Amino acid sequence: MASITIDRDECISCGACWSTCPEIYEESDDGLTQIVSEYQVDGDQAEGEVPEDLEDCAVDGADSCPVEIIHVS
Ligand code: SF4
Repeated sequence: MASITIDRDECISCGACWSTCPEIYEESDDGLTQIVSEYQVDGDQAEGEVPEDLEDCAVDGADSCPVEIIHVS
């Protein structure tokens, strides 16, 4: 299990994380990135928990972010 947090207010909507790991990251209605609903914690767009088999995807998406606002632990 990996935990993800996104500093959404600093997202520049470049789409890199959506392209790299669409299983976890997607564009929300406000144009900023969010965790897909399946993996959100308590319905929070900016917080997620993903199973072990998606950890590499989560990290690759975070590494793709040019403003480094996705944190995986
Ligand atoms: S890669 Fe970073 S800046 Fe780009 S859409 Fe994802 S969270 Fe936003």
